[in-house]
Amino acid sequence: MTAPMTVAFGSATDPGLRRRINEDSYIAAPPLFLVADGMGGHHAGEIASATVIDEFAGFAGRASLGIDDVRAALARARRRVEGLPPGEGAGAGTTLTGVVIADVDGEGYWLAINLGDSRTYRLSEGHLEQISVDHSVVQELIDAGQLDPDAAARDTRRNVITRAIGAGSDADADYWLIPAEAGDRILVCSDGLSTELDGEAIHAILVAETHPQSAATRLVHEAMLRGGRDNITALVVDATAVRSRASRPGDHTAPSAIVADEIDGDTLPRVVAAGGY
Ligand code: MN
Repeated sequence: MTAPMTVAFGSATDPGLRRRINEDSYIAAPPLFLVADGMGGHHAGEIASATVIDEFAGFAGRASLGIDDVRAALARARRRVEGLPPGEGAGAGTTLTGVVIADVDGEGYWLAINLGDSRTYRLSEGHLEQISVDHSVVQELIDAGQLDPDAAARDTRRNVITRAIGAGSDADADYWLIPAEAGDRILVCSDGLSTELDGEAIHAILVAETHPQSAATRLVHEAMLRGGRDNITALVVDATAVRSRASRPGDHTAPSAIVADEIDGDTLPRVVAAGGY
């Protein structure tokens, strides 16, 4: 099977200015673009996040993945994190977010996943949307109408997450299946980036930096300039070509105008935007 889309990508990570070790781990290798932000004392968080990424790394080089592949890897990753021995990550936890390239009836899709408060965004036709919805106390208060999103950025509870891999959590991940379009740009990041840079700043950098590696490097750099209080990781993934029904060779069953309408009327789950910028 050939890949349903081709991508260009870049990545950057830094411990930041206040922390000695980097507990973020990531993989940027088609079809996988994932960030895990570990938590736990000493090196425990680092071990937990690296364990989860290692479990997914076995898929690198595949043309695409399905949701069953992702669910199974997540279950294996969770067992490994829960089984970490004392002194080597016992009790630690990690977030996980990002996208994998999926193939739905021969068409290219982003399969987004989230557990915790790392984030996945999509820049599409100049508009930035946050795909993932944070699993955090602050997000729950916003949803309940008890906290205003602007105040949330300064709330002392903003680091408290309500779902994780390990750390005593057995909650499932959220998934989104989004039809990809050539020109899409995905940003996957840890909260060390989204805490320092608001949506407007992230949007401006993603639009200004054409090359995905320049965008990733600049995002991390700007987060450092604004304090760098946590570990910072950014992956930037550009869809350079996407196989879709309209573009598939040999498919002459419908005029292209009708095909475009069908795609627009797609009933697959779409992005639940937490707010545009
Ligand atoms: Mn973090």
